[in-house]
Amino acid sequence: MIAASPYTLTVMQRIAHSINGELVEPHSGAYLDNVEPATGQVYSHVPDGDAADVQAAVDAASKAFARWAATPPQQRSQVMLRIADLIDRDLEKLARAETIDNGKPLNLSRSVDIPRAASNMRFFATAILHGHSESHATQLSNMRALNYTLRQPVGVAGAISPWNLPLYLFTWKIAPALATGNTVVAKPSELTPMTAYLFSELCIEAGLPKGVLNVVHGTGPKVGAAIVSHADIPIITFTGGTATGATIAREAGPMFKKLALELGGKNPNIVFADCDYDKAVATSVRAAFANQGQICLAGSRVFVERPIFDEFVNEFAQRARELRVGDPLDEASHQGAVVSHDHMEKVLGCIEQARDDGGRIVCGGERVHVESARCKDGYFIQPTVITGLEPNSRTNLQEIFGPVVTITPFDDEHEVVEWANATPYGLSATVWTENLNRAHTVAERLQTGTVWINCWLLRDLRVPFGGVKQSGVGREGGEEAMRFFTEPKNVCVAFE
Ligand code: NDP
Repeated sequence: MIAASPYTLTVMQRIAHSINGELVEPHSGAYLDNVEPATGQVYSHVPDGDAADVQAAVDAASKAFARWAATPPQQRSQVMLRIADLIDRDLEKLARAETIDNGKPLNLSRSVDIPRAASNMRFFATAILHGHSESHATQLSNMRALNYTLRQPVGVAGAISPWNLPLYLFTWKIAPALATGNTVVAKPSELTPMTAYLFSELCIEAGLPKGVLNVVHGTGPKVGAAIVSHADIPIITFTGGTATGATIAREAGPMFKKLALELGGKNPNIVFADCDYDKAVATSVRAAFANQGQICLAGSRVFVERPIFDEFVNEFAQRARELRVGDPLDEASHQGAVVSHDHMEKVLGCIEQARDDGGRIVCGGERVHVESARCKDGYFIQPTVITGLEPNSRTNLQEIFGPVVTITPFDDEHEVVEWANATPYGLSATVWTENLNRAHTVAERLQTGTVWINCWLLRDLRVPFGGVKQSGVGREGGEEAMRFFTEPKNVCVAFE
């Protein structure tokens, strides 16, 4: 049994980098304010890291690489499983920290974000125990040979993650990198650094060797850019916005780095009249508003077949009105705060734009001033349902990444598939129908990395995960991630 951690979250705490197994201050001594979205108040300080901190992290990771790469998989697995156990031990503390840092409801942090971080570690810690290598017996006219393919770690991996699912996505990148024998220099979003910091403490406690994981905090343009351009980091895994992904690709491409980009989405949710109606409405509301709509996989464009359109809109809007927006630490809240003041302004601006374009705001559309004294200045937005917009309107093409959904009627399968594919994105789609043939044919024609039939966000960590078009390059998950973080090397042995 693991003893309780002595860590307590203190007011105005200073977060530290984790470099070479030590919690250290930034080289420059500079810090940024870290704001709690539910209160609008600064509650801690995060290092304003820079290229000097990244250099120290790369030095440590480079030094640790040969030994970690040569560590038997069973030993790498054991230390990663210890980290997962420590995440479980600190579930409540990590969940509260995530909620304070990000604004998401505590129930969500407790039931999804933090358990998934532990699952990420366990999944890849055990996957490396069950891998297999490829071999080919070759026969030529005068010679025979055995070809076998080694998969070796790439080196120091750079991992850059966003603010919407902070520890969940941070560990989703780090776990396969570490499991396959790479060392890592990681940067969480400067908006939500707290659980990455707590995680780095747990890695030290679990006995992860020095330099194997280095966490450098700070902004994208400083720390992120320094990781991307560093000559000794040959592989980058990034999750974030499409524009940032393009900047990273421009920098990393000419350096011939291995690159995985998981980017934005504007995902269609297609509801046919023959669906299981109650399930479709309930799940579509969750797909639109979970995590305040700040999920890359959110079903933010709902298309409903015309015979059930009016009934669906009424019921959907009624359920949206019933979602309680409030202090995310209050167990009764369904919706918390969006991540920052800037992001709240951006989302409210998108709602104004929808109004200007002739959209009808069926419900929501405004900032919420939560009554509790603690949250009076927090960044809360009403769940917002919009109808009456063209499928190719700005609102239906841009990623809003907030609690805003459009609902549009359609008349036939051909039309809705065309509309679903009309955005520059191609991350995921959901289809609701009881017609098996239609489910398969529509799934085949949708231009996305994932299609959910009669469900949403049903995740199996073994399946390939990623997007097409401007939603990304490459796939994460299961074997795809293990292959990304390793280089294949073929060895050809000739014999008589
Ligand atoms: P950003 O692209 O703004 O940031 C993502 C990360 O990149 C942050 O850590 C950020 O740092 C960093 N960054 C910013 N600029 C640079 C740069 N020039 N070089 C290197 N790193 C940089 O995205 P958000 O954090 O706003 O996240 C929201 C976006 O992420 C949405 O578009 C969403 O769809 C997408 N996303 C995609 C997912 C997927 O799996 N496809 C999953 C989840 C989100 P900092 O913020 O600290 O400055």
